[in-house]
Amino acid sequence: GSTIGILGGGQLGRMLAMAAARLGYSCIVLEKDGCPTRDVCVDHIDAAYDDPDALAALAERADVVTYEFENVPIATVERLTRDVPVYPPAMALSCSQDRLAEKRFINETGIGTAPFLPVDGDRDIAEALKRFGGKGVLKTRRMGYDGKGQRVFDGQGPADTTGIFEAMGGVPLIMEGFIDFACEISIIATRSQSGEIALYDPARNDHAEGILRRSTVPSGAASSVEDKARNAARKIVEALDYVGVLGIEFFVTANDELLVNEIAPRVHNSGHWTEAACGISQFEQHVRAIAGLPLGSTARHSDCVMENLIGDEIAGLPKIAEKANAVLHHYGKRQARPGRKMGHVTYLSPRTKP
Ligand code: ATP
Ligand code: MG
Ligand code: MG
Repeated sequence: GSTIGILGGGQLGRMLAMAAARLGYSCIVLEKDGCPTRDVCVDHIDAAYDDPDALAALAERADVVTYEFENVPIATVERLTRDVPVYPPAMALSCSQDRLAEKRFINETGIGTAPFLPVDGDRDIAEALKRFGGKGVLKTRRMGYDGKGQRVFDGQGPADTTGIFEAMGGVPLIMEGFIDFACEISIIATRSQSGEIALYDPARNDHAEGILRRSTVPSGAASSVEDKARNAARKIVEALDYVGVLGIEFFVTANDELLVNEIAPRVHNSGHWTEAACGISQFEQHVRAIAGLPLGSTARHSDCVMENLIGDEIAGLPKIAEKANAVLHHYGKRQARPGRKMGHVTYLSPRTKP
C-alpha cells in the first residue's frame, strides 16, 4: 500500500507523517481541527473519530491505518478493520485504554506491576489505602495522560476519603500502591508483521508534575535491569501479537526490581531521542512495521539527553540552537499553553560505551 491513514493529528501524528513521507508513503490524517499535522504535507479529513462518513472515506483511501494516541474509540478501530488493516491490533489498544485491564494483562504475562485495586467509591479508596499502608496513587482507569486524573496519597494526610470519588469525576478508578522507585526507564519496542522484534536501548525518564521532562540514554540502570526490561518488552509484544511501535514504562526499585508502569500502543515521547541518536527513528520503525517492510537497525551512534519544551519554554529555541550538539524539533503548534508539549531538543554526545 502507499497511503497510510493516521487517527490523530497531534505531534506524534506529525512525526509519523514526516517519517512516512521519507519512505515514499503519503498520509491522510483523521482529526477534528488537528493542529500540528496541518503544517506538513498531508491530506486531512476534518471530522470526529466516530463520524461514519469520515471512517468510510478513510477506509476507502488508506491502504493501512494506524493511530497516534491510545484513546481512539475501540469502535472506530473495529469499524475500520472491516475494510482495511489497522495496526497496532485492537487488542493492544483496548488493553492499554483501561489501567485495570492493562495491569491484569501485564501480570498474566508474568511481569510485575505496582499492586492495585479497582475503586468504585469512597469506601474502596479507604480500603485500598489501608491495604497499601496509606501510600498510593489514585488514577482514572481511562483517558488519563500527562498525569491528569491522578491523586497521590503520601500517607501524611487525613484518612477521611469522603467525596474523593465524586471529586475525581465519579468514573471508575484504580488505586495503585505508591512505588518508591529509584528511577523510571522505558523501552521502545517494535514488532513487524512477520514477527521480527527490534528494541531500542532503554532510556531513563524524569517527570515533573506527571509530565515527562527528560529522557537520558544510556539509562544508567544496571545491565541486569536493562536485560530484564528487554525480556519483558519481548514477552509483551509477543503476547499482544503486536505490530508497530510500543512504548513500555517501568519503575526500577532500590533493589533493582523491575515493575511495568504502563504501556502505550504508539510511538512514545520517551523515544523521541531516536530521531537524533539513531540512524532509524521510532517513527520510521513504526511506519516500516505497519507498512509490512522489514525493521531497521536500532543501533545508537551517540549518547543523548532529550528535553521536552513545554509551554513557554518553546521561546528558548533560538538560544538552544546556539549549542552545536542540539537537535531541534518544533511541533508547529501556534499557541503555547501551560503544560502543552510544544517541541523537544536532543543533546548529542559521543558514545561512552560500545
Ligand atoms: P503518560 O503521559 O506517560 O501517559 P499518565 O497520565 O498515563 O502519563 P502515569 O504514567 O500513570 O500517568 O504516571 C505519571 C507519573 O507519575 C509516572 O511516570 C511516575 O513518575 C508517577 N507515578 C505513577 N504511578 C505511580 C505509582 N504507583 N507510584 C509512584 N509513582 C507513580
Ligand atoms: Mg499513560
Ligand atoms: Mg506514563
